[in-house]
Parts: sequence; structure tokens; C-alpha cells
Amino acid sequence: MAVEIESLFTSALGLATPWRVANVELNTAQKRIDFNITCEAKYLPCPLCNKADQSIHDRLERHWRHLDFFQYEAWLHAELPRIHCDDCDKTTQVEVPWAREGSGFTLLFEALALSLCQDLPVRQAAQLLRCNDKQLWRRIEHYVQAARKLDDMSGVKIAGIDETSLRKGQNYITVVHDLEKKRLLFACEGRDHKTVVDFASDLKAHGGKPEQIEHVCQDMSAAYAKGVSLALPNAQISYDRFHVVAMANEAMDEVRREETRTQPQSIKTALGGNDRKLLKSLAWGMRRNPDGWSTKQLNAMHWLQHSTLKSARAWRLKMALRTVYANAVKHNDEDLAKAELSSWLSWATRCRLEPFKKLATTLKQRLDGVVRGMLDNRSNAYVEAMNGLLQQAKRAARGFKTATNFIMIAYLCMSKLKHLPSNPLVPAVSPKYSVLVHRCL
Ligand SMILES: [Zn+2]
Repeated sequence: MAVEIESLFTSALGLATPWRVANVELNTAQKRIDFNITCEAKYLPCPLCNKADQSIHDRLERHWRHLDFFQYEAWLHAELPRIHCDDCDKTTQVEVPWAREGSGFTLLFEALALSLCQDLPVRQAAQLLRCNDKQLWRRIEHYVQAARKLDDMSGVKIAGIDETSLRKGQNYITVVHDLEKKRLLFACEGRDHKTVVDFASDLKAHGGKPEQIEHVCQDMSAAYAKGVSLALPNAQISYDRFHVVAMANEAMDEVRREETRTQPQSIKTALGGNDRKLLKSLAWGMRRNPDGWSTKQLNAMHWLQHSTLKSARAWRLKMALRTVYANAVKHNDEDLAKAELSSWLSWATRCRLEPFKKLATTLKQRLDGVVRGMLDNRSNAYVEAMNGLLQQAKRAARGFKTATNFIMIAYLCMSKLKHLPSNPLVPAVSPKYSVLVHRCL
């Protein structure tokens, strides 16, 4: 009976000559199952030069964590032969078919861990797998780098460049997306023009051509624009609508904050109350779309619109800019969009609200790119979706807030990498790794 169990597990683990399971130990108290694997050959080919029939020099004991066997934690153990080769005169350890050299996890365990890390924060995946999260971070880095080496960027024509930060206001990371394939192409630390130059080199290393990039969608950053002019010679810049609207919101908030600070009484009088909550309702009401107003916000906004407050003017300016953008999408007419934006810009310039005057100057300096961004519907929803995914990546990297951890997780979850190992618990496997699954399961 014992022999049958061992040969059963030899097949189940996908082992072939000279490897076989010599014995199996089940420890129900410790919820653990151990497979002792033996290498039966007396002579093996040299792992370095492949010279046949070389003698075994010595054996070193090694251990690997494998996929759980039912509720038991499964471990493989083997004494790995080292071969001394007559031909190249080197002593080399043989490779095993179930694990990468130097890894204490089997390939299938690593593949499962990687799949979990695409959906869960790394620390949580580590808890679920009962291993150390540092061990998972090392695997993520290894497999992401290996998969990125094989990544094909030859067809990229439209790129979106954006910045994000690990902590508010610091640790900036530049991210570059393929806006057509909707995936992350490149991420690096910093937000100066060199990040775009580095992206262009990375693109070339992956079969892409910087001169093929026709269009770049970005925020108002002069540094990115400089990088684009240096490294992506044929790219037209369009300034992303998401960022322009965010800047208008920021300008409006600045006016409101300043007015609340310097003239709290006029605001409270205009709103008809002395309540701090009213000021909060006003702040949220001004930021939100009117169809999302709560009763309190509706009330505050009603009084605001009947007042002569600067905040009321700022809100009207912001709403008018939103209408200019909505009309551009509706009519898709460049001349009309330019005319409407120009008339908004002259209003903003004359409005006597400093933050809006500044915004108008910024937009005027980049007028053509801003108009292109108004008519370009490629990026808007995508940029917002990407921001959501980036937030998810930040959560996954929590506890290891280094830029490298964040970048690796972002690649893992957002790059649609084709050469990552597949989840061994999901039936569909990529051709490359189906070989491994057959060998190891
Ligand atoms: Zn050799």
C-alpha cells in the first residue's frame, strides 16, 4: 500500500525519472504533509555544459513550500545532487523541474501567490498563504521584471502621462499609459522632463518607436511638455479635461476658503445662519454636481446663488467651464469649442478673482492643447479609472511604501502583462506555463 501512495504522489507532482517521491509523511496535529523526493540517478548530465554521464559529487538538502494539499500545508524535500564535470571541471547543483533556482517556493506556489497579489493587498495575500510578505514582494519583482522583458509595445500611438504620489505631496511617480490598449506602459520615480525621456528609451527597448507616438494626453506640467518635445518628436499634446476641471475646482475652493477666512460673517449672513455645518454644506455643495445635492447643500447653494459673494462668482465660473466642456463633447466642433473657451477665458481674466485669473493665464498659454483635450474623448473616463486602480495599487503596497514596491504592483495589476504565470487553481493556463503545470501537478 505504501508503495502505491508514493507512486501516486510521484505522478500527482508530475515527477519523471530520475525524480520520484520516496515517502510521504502526514502530520495531522501540525496540519502538514511532507513529500520526500529522491533523485535515483547515479550519473547525470553536467548542468553547465550538458556533458552526459557525470558523477554525483555530493548532495545538499533543500526544501520547498508547495500548494496546500486539502487543509494541509505541503512541503517538498530533496537532497539535490551536485555534479562534478570532467569536461568543464566545475561542480554544479542540478536544477529541479518544480522550482526556480534558489527559491524556497515551488513554481505553482509562486504562480498562486502572484495571482492573489493581483486582487489583494500583498500583506493580506501573505496572511492567506501563511508566508512572509517580504517573500512575496521578491517574487512580484522577479516575475514582473521577467514579464516586462517580453512585453511588446510596438503598436503604441497614443499615450497618457500623469503623476501620482505615494504620500500626499511627496514621493512623486510618473505613470505612462497606452490610451488605446488601456494599460500601464511605464512608471518611474520623479515628475521632471527626464521621466518622459526614460519612457521613450523603455518604449524602444520593448519594440516601440518614440516617433510613432502621435498624441500625448497630459496635465499642465511644463516638465512633461518639455520631455515630450525632446523625446516624442511627432506627438501633439492635449491637456486632459480631467485635470483642467480639477484645476477649476481648486481655484473655486481657494476663493471660498479665502472668503471664509477673511469674511466669515458675510458668508454666514448670506447663508442665513451662524452654523459651522452650513459652511461645510456650502463647501460640498459647490464641489458637487447640482443633481447630487443633499437638502442642506441645496439650501446653502440657493442662498449662495442669491448673494454677491465672491464664492458665488467662483462657483458660476466653474460651472460655466463645465458647460464649455460639455458643449465641446456634444457638438464636436473645434471652432465652436475654441470660441466658447475664449469667451470663458476673457470672463475669468476680468473676474477679479486671483485664482481664476491665474488659471486663465495657464490655459491661454496652452490654448491649442486645451482645445484638443476638450474634443478628445479618449482619456477622460480612462484617466479616472486609472486613478482608481492606482489607489488600489497604493493600498496593495501599504506597509512597504517604497516607490519600487508601488511600481511593481502597478505593473502587476495595470499592465495586462501577457507573460506572467497563470493561477494554477484556474483551469485555463497560458501555453508557456501549461508545461509547468503538467510537470508539477
Ligand atoms: Zn560541464
